Amino acid sequence: MSVEQVETLIVGGGQAGLAMSEQLTRRGLPHLVVERHRIVERWRTERWDGLHANGPAWSDSMPGYPIPGVQPGEFATRDQIVDYFIAYAEAIKAPVRCGVEVTALYRQANGTGFRAETSRDPIEAARVVVATGPFQRPVIPAIVRPEAGVFQVHASGYRDPAQLPKGAVLTVGAGSSGAQIADELARAGRGVYLSVGRHVRPPRRYRGRDFVWWMDAQGLWHLPVGEQAPAHIPLAFSGAHGGVSVDYRRLAASGIVLVGRAERYRDGAMHFAQDLASNLAAGDASFLSFLDQADAFAAQRGLDLPEEPEARLIAPDPPCVADPIRELRLLDAGIGSIVWATGYTLDFGWLKVPVFDEHGAPMHRLGVTAVPGLYFLGLPWLSKRTSSFICGVGHDAARLADHIAARV
Ligand SMILES: Cc1cc2nc3c(=O)[nH]c(=O)nc-3n(C[C@H](O)[C@H](O)[C@H](O)COP(=O)(O)OP(=O)(O)OC[C@H]3O[C@@H](n4cnc5c(N)ncnc54)[C@H](O)[C@@H]3O)c2cc1C
Repeated sequence: MSVEQVETLIVGGGQAGLAMSEQLTRRGLPHLVVERHRIVERWRTERWDGLHANGPAWSDSMPGYPIPGVQPGEFATRDQIVDYFIAYAEAIKAPVRCGVEVTALYRQANGTGFRAETSRDPIEAARVVVATGPFQRPVIPAIVRPEAGVFQVHASGYRDPAQLPKGAVLTVGAGSSGAQIADELARAGRGVYLSVGRHVRPPRRYRGRDFVWWMDAQGLWHLPVGEQAPAHIPLAFSGAHGGVSVDYRRLAASGIVLVGRAERYRDGAMHFAQDLASNLAAGDASFLSFLDQADAFAAQRGLDLPEEPEARLIAPDPPCVADPIRELRLLDAGIGSIVWATGYTLDFGWLKVPVFDEHGAPMHRLGVTAVPGLYFLGLPWLSKRTSSFICGVGHDAARLADHIAARV
């Protein structure tokens, strides 16, 4: 067994690992990227076929690398994003070695550098950048046992409507994934029940400008992290169908039955919390407050943008909200599958360096850990709101590369 020596080892060949590679190359710093599967594997196999980027292409791209064939105001498809990053890796000549999984990372006994055990030979590195993703392990709440006789899949394993057994579908989760998957299933002619929890739903466009434009203009898109990252409330927005606002009342009008938060499952029946109306009301309040803030900003800056009072019209509660279902027998409703759009957690079981707090969360300051030479990149709110997004990771990578360059 040979032990390879590298200066900087980047673990993960997604957008974060590639962005880090670009920035190290720009500074003439040798490095190696190891990826257990293929470049941008999660975009290839853990995102459904019909997914479009959540942001317009002018925003959802790497600095200096526009997405070919996609107009700045358009939303790239999943496949366009995959092709884009493959081309980006080639353009920056990223030294990526695919099919190599880091199974354990230790700090060297003498305190300088690290040793990575991998699915191939070990690698020793003076520095390591951990770029294994903001959304690593799918979370499915322990509500329905796997042997309950209903097909269950997490959003990361959902591909398209044809993948699901015949019949209606219960989609759980009202963030961007849940709302989009429910909409896609309904458009494919499936009966859909959508379990709606707490969410924030901004307008896709307002007064002729995209949501991301408004956030950017107000300095909120790249908002720097404070002492603590804000509590996570799912953000529901969509780049599908040219980009539309997520509106649960519109989804209900299209035939989707809204239900409250899924609480428990017993004897073939799902029980829902009595929170549907309040969850929708909170989502609507977030929508209207976004409009208020945008109007105030436009007035303060004297922006000449067409007024849009009709954006404030909220449709009345549909019958499924006025008289919500609290208990649903899946068999009676013809439900053959459940799609859990219930988020992700981190999984650093392989990282054997003491950089985690008592809750297992990585401890770092803007990606720099207290262990010299160990960095995180691509985590949610690493340095700012967009740290885990395509449009934000490049800036974080540049900052970490400066940090590394100053110490080489
Ligand atoms: C459904 C969904 C839609 C999204 N849509 C958008 C969007 O439209 N726009 C946007 O900006 N952001 C979006 N995001 C957020 C973010 O851009 C993606 O999560 C993106 O994949 C993060 O890139 P990353 O490189 O940080 O991590 P990942 O893409 O997760 O890449 C990490 C890589 O590390 C590899 N890896 C993990 N462990 C190891 C190991 N031990 N050894 C070797 N390799 C390892 C993995 O195989 C993976 O390829 C979305 C997220 C989700 C979940």
